[in-house]
Amino acid sequence: MIVMKFGGTSVGGADEIRNVAEIVKSNLVRKPVVVVSAVKKITDRLIELANLAKEGNGNEVFSAIKNVHHGILEELRLEKNLLDNDFNELQKAVKSVNGKMPDAKTLDLFQSFGERMSSKIVAAQLSKSGMEAQAFNAFDLGLITTSDFGNAEPLEEAFSNLDNRIKKMKFIPVITGFIGKTREGEITTLGRGGSDYTAGIVGAAINASEIQIWTDVDGIMSADPKIIENARTLTQVSFAEASEIAYFGAKVLHPKTIIPAMEKNIPVRVLNTFNPKGNGTLILNEVEKTKQTVKAITSKRNITLIHVNSKRMLGAYGFLARLFDVFYKYKQSVDVVSTSEVSVSMTTDNSKNVEDIASDLKGIADVKISKNKAVICVVGEGMRNTPGVSGRTFSVLGKNKINIEMISQGASEINITFVVDGKDAENAVK
Ligand code: ADP
Ligand code: ASP
Ligand code: MG
Repeated sequence: MIVMKFGGTSVGGADEIRNVAEIVKSNLVRKPVVVVSAVKKITDRLIELANLAKEGNGNEVFSAIKNVHHGILEELRLEKNLLDNDFNELQKAVKSVNGKMPDAKTLDLFQSFGERMSSKIVAAQLSKSGMEAQAFNAFDLGLITTSDFGNAEPLEEAFSNLDNRIKKMKFIPVITGFIGKTREGEITTLGRGGSDYTAGIVGAAINASEIQIWTDVDGIMSADPKIIENARTLTQVSFAEASEIAYFGAKVLHPKTIIPAMEKNIPVRVLNTFNPKGNGTLILNEVEKTKQTVKAITSKRNITLIHVNSKRMLGAYGFLARLFDVFYKYKQSVDVVSTSEVSVSMTTDNSKNVEDIASDLKGIADVKISKNKAVICVVGEGMRNTPGVSGRTFSVLGKNKINIEMISQGASEINITFVVDGKDAENAVK
């Protein structure tokens, strides 16, 4: 069995969905299990709807969401009423907001409709194209999660649940990406871009022979093709490289996707829905050695840089423990860290927690916060034991007058990570 996950652009309209059906058809011998994202831009609109519903102003956005889906149904000549139930439920959700600020749980409920609707459309189109297919909400197949709304994690039993349900199927399941349910039955999401993660979870659950991520570019590229026109498609990358590339900004793959794949050593392939004959990028445990030292350069914006300074750190023990305890308290992850004897620099995503974290940290040290920074990450297994890569990297930045505010290299030596001002991010990658 293989998992085939199609992203938002890949199911963005009637033509695209017809194309998806053809791609699935040509893989029937490999017993595909399909995972889908919401139709392009629908998740954003659903969030907008939840926010507008608070002021009682959601009508226009509601109609827009409905029209996009009706348009697709019509063009594909599928059952007009296919999504009526979803629209009714979404309408109910709008009413239930009733002047309240939508919380994370409500936002997840709203967002869930995107995948709940797209999965039904794709399954109907597969059936129309002569395949036996059926749409499923992932939670109805046992994808239960923690109750971290907006960023939920699958519970251990989700894997055996999914395996038991999917293995018995004699048809192609078309499963919602991105969403799950708590044990109490409340809908959760796995974080933006999380349909990739669903593909990883389902793939690991059923021990798939391959997990395919079908998207709108030829694979993982040497840089974001939206920044670098002549970015190259990478033939192979290791799990370790892919983790760094995904975590530090390459939207093409949700960073958690490969965790379940790695645990079961399942190859992940990133492919282009609009160029299905391409080989894409293969992500494996170990990859063939190439001459390339650096494979990819990524950037991640909206980063907050936190500098902590304290003479009390000098020769003392337990200081870092106290420091990171503060982040633990606010459930805020720290991405890049660099320390000297009396100071620590750390990055996190810009988030509302930052002010609280800073105020707690002030109890133990001097704190300086700088917002709107960018993390740039230079990645490649070939950098290990190769001298001169950081020299070349930093001299290029120097020549271009780009100031570096923090530098870090992890223990694996497969990446050099540094922080620049947000406005310099694009130039730094170039
Ligand atoms: P999907 O909707 O299929 O999940 P996404 O928009 O989430 O697609 O991810 C694909 C996009 O990721 C590409 O269109 C590209 O602009 C962006 N991207 C950023 N960095 C990279 C990279 N290094 N390689 C490939 N794509 C990248
Ligand atoms: N539809 C969700 C989002 O836009 C999940 C995904 O596309 O992977 O974030
Ligand atoms: Mg995506």
